[in-house]
Amino acid sequence: MRVRSAARGSTRFAATLAAVAAAIVTQAAPCARRAEPAFRFQNNFWVNLHHLLRGESRRRGLHLPLRVDPTAMTPAERAAWSDALDRYAPYGGRDLVALVSDPGLIPSLGALNNMLTLVADDRHLDAPELPADVRTALTEAAPVYRAHGWANQQAVNAAWIAAVRPLVARYGAALADAIAAAYRSAWSTEPYLVDACAEAGPDGGYTIDGPPGTAAHTTIEAANPEYQGDMALEMLFHEASHTEAMAGRVRAEIARVAADEHVETQPDLWHAVIFYTTGELARRVLGKTNDPTYLPAGDRYHVYDRRWKTARAALGKDWQPYLDGRVDYETALRALVRDASQAP
Ligand SMILES: [Zn+2]
Repeated sequence: MRVRSAARGSTRFAATLAAVAAAIVTQAAPCARRAEPAFRFQNNFWVNLHHLLRGESRRRGLHLPLRVDPTAMTPAERAAWSDALDRYAPYGGRDLVALVSDPGLIPSLGALNNMLTLVADDRHLDAPELPADVRTALTEAAPVYRAHGWANQQAVNAAWIAAVRPLVARYGAALADAIAAAYRSAWSTEPYLVDACAEAGPDGGYTIDGPPGTAAHTTIEAANPEYQGDMALEMLFHEASHTEAMAGRVRAEIARVAADEHVETQPDLWHAVIFYTTGELARRVLGKTNDPTYLPAGDRYHVYDRRWKTARAALGKDWQPYLDGRVDYETALRALVRDASQAP
């Protein structure tokens, strides 16, 4: 659910990729275009250990309960684990979605995640660009994690992937089509990396620009109760919608209309739009539109309550009729932008 950082370099990079993809699509036969995001699910040891060390180091510093119990370790394991947490301390308070560091500072957590997601071998840490401290931390913590928690986490990740795959196979194409049509955009033809993970920040999931050759890199906390069952499908597409192809399009369209209408919207109105749109279209594709017990994630988890109450009302009033095919896109978008910019 996290907002991807608006790092200029990565956005430009994504735009370049999109332009290349668009050029390829233009030259290819229409049937060569992929209609839906190609999710590449991963159960990656290093990505899991990286997030766990970052979270555990943070919790230790804040005197919060730890997830890996040091009292269950041998003295040698405890020393290695503690040293790894020390080395991760500079990352404890950093933003998971940031991709670009200031010059001279340590690499961003997103950059580290993108390096580690490419390491398929869970014994040999083959990532030459890793900073020495991070490499040492991961290397010394690896045997400790293998002895204390990884087998269980690996099974949790595998179960989450096994549960979401059939949902994507059954509903993915229809949901992808509906989302792309709603924004009048198209999914990237590059793979969407999805790492099932021990933890993924305060909201249980986030998406960043992925390594070169990918459309995006999503990390999801596999055991998070908000990402199970039907919500796994919805949130998977919510995360995929964080990319330039979808969220970028929504941001640009909101900006266009807001300038036209001389109104100022919340800078993250686009995020409320993708919450609402993905939720509404997932409910429809799942055949739950008339099920009063079914709520999309945004309503189910009170996502709009804090600062999007006006936006939520405008989405229901102005955007829902468009999603239902009763109002045209431009009319709906203009009404949404106008109504969402009103004071609550
Ligand atoms: Zn989000």
